[in-house]
Amino acid sequence: MDERLDWVTASEKVGTLSGQVAQLHAELIDVTAQVIADDAWAGAGIRSVEHFLEIQTGLDRHTVSKLVKIARRVPELPEVMGLLRQGSVTLDQVAVVAQHAPAAFSADVAEFAQYATVSQLRRGLAGYFHDTDRTLTPERPSQEASVQISASGERFRLTFMTGDMVAGALVEQAIREAKDALFTAGNSEATLADGLVEVAHRSLAAISDPSRSKRFQVLVHLDTQGQSWLHKRGALPQHVADRYTCQGQLIPVWETDGKPVAVGRAQRIVPDRVRRLIEDRDKGCRYPACHSSGYLEVHHKTHWRDGGPTDPSNLLCLCSFHHDEHHRGSFTIHGEPERIDGLTFRNHRGWPITPTRPEPPPRPKRPPPEWQGPTGERLETRWLSFRANPGTPPTAAA
Ligand SMILES: [Zn+2]
Ligand SMILES: [Zn+2]
Repeated sequence: MDERLDWVTASEKVGTLSGQVAQLHAELIDVTAQVIADDAWAGAGIRSVEHFLEIQTGLDRHTVSKLVKIARRVPELPEVMGLLRQGSVTLDQVAVVAQHAPAAFSADVAEFAQYATVSQLRRGLAGYFHDTDRTLTPERPSQEASVQISASGERFRLTFMTGDMVAGALVEQAIREAKDALFTAGNSEATLADGLVEVAHRSLAAISDPSRSKRFQVLVHLDTQGQSWLHKRGALPQHVADRYTCQGQLIPVWETDGKPVAVGRAQRIVPDRVRRLIEDRDKGCRYPACHSSGYLEVHHKTHWRDGGPTDPSNLLCLCSFHHDEHHRGSFTIHGEPERIDGLTFRNHRGWPITPTRPEPPPRPKRPPPEWQGPTGERLETRWLSFRANPGTPPTAAA
């Protein structure tokens, strides 16, 4: 340890380690491909394979999305994957290949990837191969002006048709604006349907006459047996009623034998002051590695209908997706919301969603990596030429 590291030894050490990192990346990609094939990531509020990997590996979003992109193309890119397993190319090089190279050119491109830097690869491949199949689905024109509403079972259906293109454009812009506002507020998954609901929220919230706004409230009835149904409409699935009453978006009317007994419990709706406190404390959805931060719902850890108080020690922020998933029973939440690391999320079998890391196993013996790295020479893209793999029909070529 006393000896100073000289340039040659440093270069050798870093090179060997880089090759070993590449080999481990290859193993991680192969496992990821299997995770995808077997749907092993799904459930318990995990949004995607990427989300699963982000929680399990602790890597950032971009690295994780690279791993997944490559994993999805493993069977199509055997040559470059072989090089990665040998430790002869890096994850970043393979990622560029997976992004741009058609399967029919996999062999030639892999050959080039060995000697090119990441930016040379990007420059060389992005210009050489380009997407050809961008198909657009044409929209069907509508004729009459009408709004049809039907609600049955678990489905609500609204159809709006008009031959007045200006009125149609107005409705469209209103929905798009509302969707965009949700997006800007942090709900990156807001759809046009969410936009339409948002338009409705705003319109009802803008009513100033209290008697009028009362007339157009959405009421949900809850009885002592735990049944719930929408006012003048059918039964509500439990998880839907729980989620909306938790948020204070529905006004519950307690009933016994069909007769209202009281209108809610005081303090059910999270007061603005407490809400701001919780949002500021949590700064985002508390589910592991969830990136929703702007559009948040405040959840009662002990559900409000089970007597949970509206108090910071019982409240936490969740995005609408995870709030919904939790009330559907995908995962449970334990612990103390007031502590920044105080919560544990478990799947329906009781397993913690965040990794419990055992002692690292002893390092397995791998063949030494064949690490050379890019040549670092200047690249003239006009001299690039890739041949399709032998046996490729001419139509499959880019
Ligand atoms: Zn809730
Ligand atoms: Zn979330």
